[in-house]
Amino acid sequence: MPHPLASTFVRTQLSLRVRDVNTHAERAGGEFVLYWMQSTHRFEENWALRFAIREADRLGVPVIVHQGLDPTYEHANDRIHAFILHNARELAQRAASLGHRYQFVLRRRRSDDRRTVDRVAARAALVVTDDFPTAGVAERTARFASRCPCRVVAVESHAIVPAALFEKEEYAARTLRPKVLGHLAHALAAVADAPPRASVSDTLWGSLDVDRFDFAGDLLAQVASCEIDHSVPPAPLPSGRRAAQARLATFCSAALPEYESRRGDPADADGSSRLSPYLHFGQISAAEVARAAIAAVGAARAEPFLDELVTWRELALNFCLRNPRFRTLGALPEWVHRTMDAHRGDRREAIYSRDELERAATQHPLWNAAQRELLATGVIHNVMRMYWGKSVLTWTESYADALAHLIHLNDKWALDGRDPSSYGGIQWCFGKFDRPWGERPVWGTIRSMSLARAYKKFDASAYEARWSGPA
Ligand SMILES: Cc1cc2nc3c(=O)[nH]c(=O)nc-3n(C[C@H](O)[C@H](O)[C@H](O)COP(=O)(O)OP(=O)(O)OC[C@H]3O[C@@H](n4cnc5c(N)ncnc54)[C@H](O)[C@@H]3O)c2cc1C
Repeated sequence: MPHPLASTFVRTQLSLRVRDVNTHAERAGGEFVLYWMQSTHRFEENWALRFAIREADRLGVPVIVHQGLDPTYEHANDRIHAFILHNARELAQRAASLGHRYQFVLRRRRSDDRRTVDRVAARAALVVTDDFPTAGVAERTARFASRCPCRVVAVESHAIVPAALFEKEEYAARTLRPKVLGHLAHALAAVADAPPRASVSDTLWGSLDVDRFDFAGDLLAQVASCEIDHSVPPAPLPSGRRAAQARLATFCSAALPEYESRRGDPADADGSSRLSPYLHFGQISAAEVARAAIAAVGAARAEPFLDELVTWRELALNFCLRNPRFRTLGALPEWVHRTMDAHRGDRREAIYSRDELERAATQHPLWNAAQRELLATGVIHNVMRMYWGKSVLTWTESYADALAHLIHLNDKWALDGRDPSSYGGIQWCFGKFDRPWGERPVWGTIRSMSLARAYKKFDASAYEARWSGPA
């Protein structure tokens, strides 16, 4: 039986997930609770929306769900804009049937009005938003909360097991795994979501000073009209919860039983879930994915997949929440600094500029293939992502340059980029979550991965052939 919204289970979960961002009280006479949707782009299994609804029911007011898209986020481009906008159209279509009032505002140019949320918040009793350590969300929330006259709370919906349970930075998957798995079955309990008791009257809806986006017409034409980087084209992956659920169902029936062996082959594009873009934008919840996997093959057979979806994904979240230096070499352990110091002056086999890397113009066809996959689709197969990141470590004048290039390429081109897993994955290439290995030039004691050896481990030629043409 799913837990009702008013249950102890939900109250306990929320007490772990809710964080006050300012010290203001609720505004007396506030007409609604505002849920400002920033990183969890869904109505289902959304802990921030659940909190907004509970608070609204307590106060006897309705909830307004607001989402905005600005041209100002880092690397704003057609790929990210199109993925968000198509999902927003689906949200707008679904909102009424689920009992929600949802508005979306597209700010096309930097000079356009940028204070819609502030104007709406001025009439709210309190503002609830998503708690997310990357993609600029935490910084935007802090700026907003400092000028908002009422209470602002941020709610974490990214993890299955509330991230607040792990107060310190974890060293490795092996330290987090037993803790997170100990809570998993409990945290996966289903909740019976319900709409707010009070509904938004047409008078209130009409009186809000908001230029709501009209989803009729060609969304890509709308994207083209925005003042953003048009050199990064939309990815072929369809956006939205329906597409995510369809992909999840196919994966669970066709690939999950052999996940452990199939996910190691980059030529087998269907061997893993390919859900990371949907998970990154919160279009589907990790809990829904985990439940579907367990229902399909049982908890024991789903274990290798759950290890990635839960342990590694939540390790990355823990890293970005607990280590403010997650985008710099400063986040790496002491042994990595020591070995980098010892090998800083080693001769590099080749030095590539950021531009050469971005154009997939290295001397290594396999690396270029991975970069082309990224340019064309917005993702790289997991195994090739490791070779992609590790190789760059050896191709720049300094380790800091390598890290900066990888973050730039991934943030700009990856559909699942700017996620905690992005920085966790990239920093893993530099030794994060790992241990020292045998000493080698340039690598020092960081685990090495050689493109030449990849041909012996899997059918690298097939992967290379697949991504051989221009991106
Ligand atoms: C250099 C580098 C960069 C990376 N950049 C990103 C990124 O930008 N965004 C991103 O989501 N992941 C990133 N990863 C982690 C991993 O490669 C991807 O999550 C995975 O390849 C996504 O494919 P999938 O959805 O088919 O994964 P599946 O194998 O089906 O796994 C299911 C889910 O588990 C999570 N997951 C899987 N592997 C990892 C991992 N190693 N660390 C953290 N979470 C994981 C993802 O959310 C994934 O969708 C990166 C890894 C490396 C080495």
